[in-house]
Amino acid sequence: MLIVQKYGGTSVANVDRIKAVAERVVKTVKEGNSVVVVVSAMAGETDKLINLAHQISPTPNEREMDLLLSSGERITTALTAIAIESLGVKAIALTGRQMGIITDKFHTKAKISEIKAERARKALQDGYVVVVAGFQGITDDDEVTTLGRGGSDLSAVAVAAALNADLCEIYTDVDGVYTTDPNIVPQARKLDKISYEEMLELASLGAKVLQTRSVEFAMKYNVPVVVRSSFNDNQGTIVKKEDEDMEDVLVSGVAYDKNQTKITILGVPDKPGVAAKLFNAIASKNIVVDMIVQNISSDGKETDISFTVPKTDSRKALEITEYIAKEMGAKGALIAEDIAKVSIVGVGMRTHSGVAAKMFEVLSNHGINILMISTSEIKVSCVINVKYTELAVRALHEAFGLDKE
Ligand code: ADP
Ligand code: ASP
Ligand code: MG
Repeated sequence: MLIVQKYGGTSVANVDRIKAVAERVVKTVKEGNSVVVVVSAMAGETDKLINLAHQISPTPNEREMDLLLSSGERITTALTAIAIESLGVKAIALTGRQMGIITDKFHTKAKISEIKAERARKALQDGYVVVVAGFQGITDDDEVTTLGRGGSDLSAVAVAAALNADLCEIYTDVDGVYTTDPNIVPQARKLDKISYEEMLELASLGAKVLQTRSVEFAMKYNVPVVVRSSFNDNQGTIVKKEDEDMEDVLVSGVAYDKNQTKITILGVPDKPGVAAKLFNAIASKNIVVDMIVQNISSDGKETDISFTVPKTDSRKALEITEYIAKEMGAKGALIAEDIAKVSIVGVGMRTHSGVAAKMFEVLSNHGINILMISTSEIKVSCVINVKYTELAVRALHEAFGLDKE
């Protein structure tokens, strides 16, 4: 088999952890497999580099940020290859460029457009373990890019798809995908399997165990993904196409996201074209808007529009909104950073009613006010005050019976 193994930051956090990774890789090779390893930077390294830049400038150039951040993965890639070689197995470390990971030009959140994997293929044929730097790529005109936080998951899945690998294993610090974050709800249960669609919702709603775009990619190219721990040999969670018994589960997971900011434009004229203008301006800066709520105007003349954006983009989004507000003669713009989004996800929602109502009831029973709501076929999300996040997640987890087998 050809197996891609991705090791996250905690799995390569220090020399001992890197040696343990090398041992697992060598064991997989000795079992008769070809292995491609994708590594993240050491735990905390990317944050440390961001922090260094921010000590110099609050708005560092994104091109230079990418060069800076990509250095974290270079270190672990080389060290991991050295560790594998020291166990007597041939290994070669490749940067994003050397692996041929081609991206678009959007620095700090680039999208992979192509992987030119000849070099890796050749190395595998020659009996090498190929160790690839996660999170980074290169544009057509030779600029270094990064793929957004948590982007090594995407590197791994994309490399697995490009090489037509039999399996993509994501090694992390928990045993698999749980009904909710096991670090905040101890009663959370590990799922044996989860559908791509549910995983995609959970990831995009904040369950950072897999990066959203990596799940999108896996779903598109049908890459079999297993999430498991690098700290033990326990069976992980298989992420795959939906099967029949998955439909019986009403709610399979609860997610939360504290990384959103709510922006409100106040007193805009209630007429066609206003929303188009605002959201076109925001989209042109490559900012992804999540929830949008427009209030009806009480007098037919003016209305408020609220929306959420990732915290990292909130300053930029506020500036654009203030500018548009002025241009349209609106009353102004507000920003609220003390918000969180809690969500429930399950494919069973397609065929059951009353799930959203129950969610609202659970929140209200705990005195938690709902600021915004959004739903899709298989999820319900509520924006609440950030201070109630853990309370809400625990209450929903219990109310939907996720504590029990
Ligand atoms: P890595 O550095 O290995 O990429 P991450 O920190 O990105 O690891 O992701 C693993 C973390 O995801 C876990 O430690 C856990 O706190 C968090 N997490 C959030 N929701 C879930 C969930 N539903 N199942 C498992 N882990 C989750
Ligand atoms: N090192 C990067 C980050 O911390 C990418 C990753 O770990 O997946 O976001
Ligand atoms: Mg991660």
